[in-house]
Amino acid sequence: MEKITNLCKRRGFVFQSSEIYGGLASCWDYGPLGVELKRNITEAWWRDNIVAREDMVGLDSAILMHPKVWEASGHVEGFTDPLVDCKSCKQRFRADQLSGPKCPECGGELTEARQFNLMFRTFMGPVEDTASTIYLRPETAQGIFVNFQNVLNSSRMKIPFGIGQIGKSFRNEITPGNFLFRTREFEQMEIEFFVKPGDDAEWHERWKAERFAWYQRYGIRRARLRLREHDKEELAHYAKRTADVEYEFPMGWSELEGIANRTDFDLKQHAKTSGKALTYFDEERKTHVVPYAIEPSAGADRSVLAFLVDAYREEEVRGEKRVLLRLHADLAPIKIAVLPLLKKRDEIVARAREIQGRLARRWVSVYDDTAAIGRLYRRQDEVGTPYCVTVDVQTVGDRERGETGDAKVTIRERDSMDQIRVPVAELETVFRELLTDGIPWSTVGARYPATTKS
Ligand code: ATP
Repeated sequence: MEKITNLCKRRGFVFQSSEIYGGLASCWDYGPLGVELKRNITEAWWRDNIVAREDMVGLDSAILMHPKVWEASGHVEGFTDPLVDCKSCKQRFRADQLSGPKCPECGGELTEARQFNLMFRTFMGPVEDTASTIYLRPETAQGIFVNFQNVLNSSRMKIPFGIGQIGKSFRNEITPGNFLFRTREFEQMEIEFFVKPGDDAEWHERWKAERFAWYQRYGIRRARLRLREHDKEELAHYAKRTADVEYEFPMGWSELEGIANRTDFDLKQHAKTSGKALTYFDEERKTHVVPYAIEPSAGADRSVLAFLVDAYREEEVRGEKRVLLRLHADLAPIKIAVLPLLKKRDEIVARAREIQGRLARRWVSVYDDTAAIGRLYRRQDEVGTPYCVTVDVQTVGDRERGETGDAKVTIRERDSMDQIRVPVAELETVFRELLTDGIPWSTVGARYPATTKS
């Protein structure tokens, strides 16, 4: 984990929040590369789960909601963790995460457990009293439930269908930590998939399989993923069954996503508390029915961590260490780096800049000439850039000697370090195939002559 946090800071993926003031515990800021990585993850999720599916629509509900929402959902009453204090060192812990009866830090005696509500409270408007108390949402899900009827009435969706949303949630966690894994402010990618009562078990299985496959589609190794069923005692108050997608993080197997069968609990609770009907009309049975909700709930920040950890590799190449992030091309923050082989030759620099300018209209790309080519390649490997384009003497020719260039550049692929020689005029076509259409490197690369690896 330390290697990942160092890389994140050094290369601009993730910084400590408010670092110049000593930092704010468990809050993190995404730097120039981190913001691209996280956006690519949330966009892939949105594209695959919302845009590409006929049975899904999206939503973006407000973080601040009517306080009754949290009474109805059970969060005011029950969204708590058992908290214990160490009588000696005064540190606080979650009782359910301790392995023994003593303080894990100093071995001191612990207090009795008491329930601690994880919701952040604040006030709305100028008066700070109970009537104006509101909460920062601890999950995005409730925004979906309270809009169920709005979406149904406005979108002509028919059961089974789902509503997805991506947004920030806040939990005053007792023991945050492990870098991006557990923070007090985080982003969720949540779906509530509404089905007929009775079809819920089948849809739960389908979503478990779908979500388990999704992480592998973007490169996470199968051996580091598992599905774990919650046992009865572990189930949340609203859930009939829950399975977690777990990843083998550096600190051990931990939840990446929870897939719960929330039954009709939330819609019924909101209907009861608000007095508004939250049902759909079952055409076959000619009656109003409260649907069941299957909830795949993933964390964007935990996903960033899992994708980074999984992609991180150290290799030895010709006696030297090479650090690389084998990120899926869709997730990589930079898609293409354009590099001049010689900085001293103006024509090479000019051509490289022109090519980068053209490619940047479609793909996130950079130009870099601040080191020798070997260093430049390693820098890009370390942040997961899948392709480098190198402009050299052959590309531009030598005017003094009366030699015209061949107008070809070298493309280098990150993982294999294979290189091919491609006409400049075909770069857009090649990158469209590789980056937009997802055609494998082996297929595209085979069309062009190979040069030595580097
Ligand atoms: P945990 O048991 O780890 O506290 P949870 O079971 O309470 O998590 P859920 O309520 O199921 O978590 O939330 C769904 C997803 O939201 C989690 O799988 C995780 O990816 C993400 N998530 C929840 N809490 C946090 C947090 N404090 N920091 C980062 N991500 C979180």
